[in-house]
Amino acid sequence: MSADIFSLARKRNKCLVGTFATLSNGDIVPCLGLKDFKVGRIDKIYDIFTEDKLLKYWDMSNRYIVQCKDCGLRYDCNDCRSLEIRLGANIDEKITCTR
Ligand code: SF4
Repeated sequence: MSADIFSLARKRNKCLVGTFATLSNGDIVPCLGLKDFKVGRIDKIYDIFTEDKLLKYWDMSNRYIVQCKDCGLRYDCNDCRSLEIRLGANIDEKITCTR
C-alpha cells in the first residue's frame, strides 16, 4: 500500500470518498449500493456539500467501524459499506471479517 493510500485510509473510507450516485428519481446517495441512505436531491446538489451530509460517508474510515477501530489492520483493510449492509450489519459495523 502506498503512503498516499495509507494516509487517505486514516481519514476517509477508501471506497466511498469522492463519490456519490444519482438515482433516476433525483435522489443522491453515497453509492449505488446504499440506495436507502439518501443524502440529498439533484435539484439541490449544493446542499449535500454545505450540510456535510455526504462527508459523513466519505469520512467513514475503518477507525469508526465498531469491529475495526482498535484493530492493527484498520488502515490496510478494504471496506464495502454496501456489502456489510446487505449482509445485515448496521452502517457502522463489519460482519465480513474472518480474523
Ligand atoms: S476487517 Fe477485520 S482485520 Fe480488517 S480492520 Fe476490521 S477487524 Fe481488522
